Amino acid sequence: MAGERKMRAMVLDGPGQPLRATELPVPEPGPGEVLLKVHACGVCRTDLHLLDGEVDVPAPPRVLGHQIVGEVVAGEPPAGAGAGGLVGVPWLGWTDGDCEYCRTGRENLCPNARFTGRDIDGGQAEYTVADTRYCFAIPAAFGPLDAAPLLCAGLIGYRALRMCGDAARLGLYGFGAAAHILTQVAAWQGRRVFAFTREGDERTQRFALELGAEWAGASEQRPPEQLDAAIIFAPVGGLVPLALAALAPGGIVVCGGIHMSDIPSFPYELLWMERTLKSVANLTRSDATELLELATRVPVRTTVSRYELADAGRALEDLRAGAFTGAAVIVP
Ligand SMILES: [Zn+2]
Ligand SMILES: [Zn+2]
Repeated sequence: MAGERKMRAMVLDGPGQPLRATELPVPEPGPGEVLLKVHACGVCRTDLHLLDGEVDVPAPPRVLGHQIVGEVVAGEPPAGAGAGGLVGVPWLGWTDGDCEYCRTGRENLCPNARFTGRDIDGGQAEYTVADTRYCFAIPAAFGPLDAAPLLCAGLIGYRALRMCGDAARLGLYGFGAAAHILTQVAAWQGRRVFAFTREGDERTQRFALELGAEWAGASEQRPPEQLDAAIIFAPVGGLVPLALAALAPGGIVVCGGIHMSDIPSFPYELLWMERTLKSVANLTRSDATELLELATRVPVRTTVSRYELADAGRALEDLRAGAFTGAAVIVP
């Protein structure tokens, strides 16, 4: 693997700047790493926060993209990935393994964690390198396009769902990539799903009902019944008091995004009666293993819009505008 081989890539030079198409040397894997030929890379709202500077990129230029599905072309594949099998790379790219969080099963909170497509070059390129210990074999039931949205939308959504405990009536605020996967998982688990979208977004409301939600409406609407849990995927702080107001006593609101606009003040009454408000941060490797196994059993069917590598910037703007239902995936 000569260092002079070049690949096409999209890079972020700094906040507020458009992604730039360029050529970079094909990266070389170090010990314990794999070189992947990227077959698909999902677009995530976190990429928009990185683009906009709402989440910091410590050392630009950086290749974004943290829902990578690829084929191992050099290095030792992760457990379960046979020859020619697909491998997935999620947001969690590396942890120190010995801090108090890593030692207690909470590597998602590791203060020294490094994240794919933020601290480590990601999948908006023809090739990428990843630490084998943080890669996963993609179940044979999924192709690259179907699997890509599972790797962040699916994983973070699943972690958020686990925080909802046994909640039977589940509200999902912001019906994008994560909610479209989670609705299928939650309905399969026997939960009742209530989908909240932007006001007047009837297309997305129909989409939610098709996937198994029993009710769909605008975020400002009260659901027909009180909810046992609500997950907020939209980065809109104003949804927090709305979701709390929709909860039954003892219910929980989980904020599923890495960034959210400020939460307006709200009366204590909305939290009273043992209601809980919390956030979900990153993922652990066991979240990934569990979700990939569960997605095979459901089975989860992702709805994807496909973009060329050179159109990565357009994919992000389409995500911002809510121009597609389901998930956007870049195919280098
Ligand atoms: Zn750690
Ligand atoms: Zn993500």
